Amino acid sequence: METLDYNYLLNRAFAMLPRKTSRAQRFVLPKVNAVIIGSYTTIRNFKDIYDTLRRSPKHLSRFLLRKIGVAGSIDESSGTLTLHGKVSAPTLNRLLEIYVKKYVVCPTCGSWDTVLERKGRVWILRCEACGAETSVEPV
Ligand SMILES: [Zn+2]
Repeated sequence: METLDYNYLLNRAFAMLPRKTSRAQRFVLPKVNAVIIGSYTTIRNFKDIYDTLRRSPKHLSRFLLRKIGVAGSIDESSGTLTLHGKVSAPTLNRLLEIYVKKYVVCPTCGSWDTVLERKGRVWILRCEACGAETSVEPV
């Protein structure tokens, strides 16, 4: 009869788990933290979002404002974006997912390790993982 101790088995089980080392797994799309005050909506974690996606606040805000069809302004000191309208968090999260698909994820390999570059009038999504360059429509 074997008398292997429980902790030993547990440690061995953990040691055998596959290690998650893929670069893509570093990225988790932050959920929008939005608060509606009067007829304005403020995205309180706007800076977290554009930092995580490595996109300029201007590019991301322009996308959101155009899609929603409202004016808005970035407050650089607090890292927030205020929209001149009432917009629900689920709507903002959906738009953020669309933005990520269009302007962040590499269509060739699925990596989020990409940069957005402007070449003349064309915007290029350049992947740092596989090297693919994809033209994307301007915001
Ligand atoms: Zn790629």
